[in-house]
Amino acid sequence: MKTLNDFNAHDLDRQDPLARFRDRFEMPQGVIYMNGNSLGPLTRDARERMARTVSEEWGEDLIRGWNTAGWYDLARRVGDKIGRLIGADAGETVMCDSTSVNLFKAVSSALDLRPGRTKIVTEAGNFPTDLYMLDGINRFSAEKYDIQILPRDQIADAIDEETAVVVLTHVHYVTGEIFPLRELTARAHEMGALTVWDLSHSVGAVDVRLNDWGADFAVGCGYKHLNGGPGAPAFLFAARRYHETMRQPLSGWFSHKSPFAFRDDFEPTVGAGRMLCGTTGVLGGSALEAAVDLMLESDQAERLEKMKLLSRYFQLLVGERCQGLGLDCVSPDDVEKRGAHLSYRHENAYAVMQNLIARGVIGDFRAPDQMRFGFSPLFMSFSDIKNAVDILADILGRGSWQAAEYQTRNAVT
Ligand SMILES: *Cc1c(COP(=O)(O)O)cnc(C)c1O
Repeated sequence: MKTLNDFNAHDLDRQDPLARFRDRFEMPQGVIYMNGNSLGPLTRDARERMARTVSEEWGEDLIRGWNTAGWYDLARRVGDKIGRLIGADAGETVMCDSTSVNLFKAVSSALDLRPGRTKIVTEAGNFPTDLYMLDGINRFSAEKYDIQILPRDQIADAIDEETAVVVLTHVHYVTGEIFPLRELTARAHEMGALTVWDLSHSVGAVDVRLNDWGADFAVGCGYKHLNGGPGAPAFLFAARRYHETMRQPLSGWFSHKSPFAFRDDFEPTVGAGRMLCGTTGVLGGSALEAAVDLMLESDQAERLEKMKLLSRYFQLLVGERCQGLGLDCVSPDDVEKRGAHLSYRHENAYAVMQNLIARGVIGDFRAPDQMRFGFSPLFMSFSDIKNAVDILADILGRGSWQAAEYQTRNAVT
C-alpha cells in the first residue's frame, strides 16, 4: 500500500474530487487560509445571496419579506439543513442566537427535565463560554447545582444518579481531541442524565450522528466550519422526544404557539421552535443558508476523507521539515482521534504566528503558547499545505519571528 510519503502535493491535488469547490470561495491572492475552524471564509454564493437579500428583499419587499422572501421560515429551514450535517431528523434543529445563548437554553431545558438532580458534569479546559454559561445558569437558577469541572479521564465515572446533565464539547478547541460522544451519551442515559453536546468545532468538519448516538440536546456555531460569516447565527438541536415537554426560560414570542395572535399569555409551540427566542437575524441567517447549501452540494464522506488527508499531510511534512525547531504537537497523533485542526506548542507561538500571517499563512494563536492550523477540504489544496510548511520551516529555521514587529499583541489573538 502506498503511504502519503509516496505522493507529492501535485498528485494529491490532481486526484482530489473536491478540487472544483475551491473556486466557489473568495480567497485573497497570496493567502493560505488555515483558520476555517475559527472563521470560515466568504463563499461566492453567500456574497451574492447577501447582496440579493439586502437590495431585493429588504430594499424592495420591506416588511412583506417575512412572507414573500421566506424570512419567517428561515430559522427552521436553515436549522433543518444544518440538521442534515449532524445526523438530526427534519424538525429537530433551529438556527438562532449565539452558541452561548443556545447553551443557556439547552442546559436550562435539560435541567428542567431532570428535577431533583443536583449535579452538572463538564470538562476542565472546555471552551470558556460553556463554563461561563454554566456559572451564569447556577447564579440565575433557584436550584443551586454542583458543577463538576473535571479532567477528561474522570468524566465518565463522575456521571451518576445525581447528575442532571452532562455538557461537553465534541472536538476540543485547542487540542482537537474528539470526545467519544456515542459512549458518553450511553453512559449518561444509563445513569438517567441528559446530554448537551457542543458541536462548534465539529459541524461541517467531522462525523456527527446525534440521533444514532441518542443525543438529547446539542448546540453549535455558524461561523466556523459552516462558513456563515462573522457572528453568524448558531444552531440548537433538541431530540423530538422532548418537543412537547421541554421548557426554556428565554420564552420570547418566536417560541410562542401563535406569535401573531399577540396574546398576553405564553403558550409554547410544539417542536424545536420552542427553543427560539426573538426575531430571526435575517441578514446573518441568509449568508449562513447560502454557505450551508454549498456544503450540502459536496459529499460528506469525501469531505471527511480529504480533511484527514490534509491534516496527515501537514503533520507528516511538519515532522520532516521542522524537527528540532521547537515545535511540539499537542493534538492526538491519530487522525481518527482528532477534529479538523492541529495545534503545536512553541515558546514564542504568538510571534511565530504573526510572522506566518505576515507571509500569508493565516492560522491562529491560543494562549498561552499554542498555534492552531485548520484543515478545510472545500477550499484547501495539498499544495497549500506544502507551501505553508515551507514557510513555517523557513521562519523557524531562520528565526525571523524574532523581529520586533511580530511581538506586539493585538486585542483579538
Ligand atoms: C467557538 C465556540 C463557541 C462560540 O460561542 P459564541 O457564543 O458564538 O461566541 C462556543 N463553544 C465552543 C466549543 C466553541 O468552539
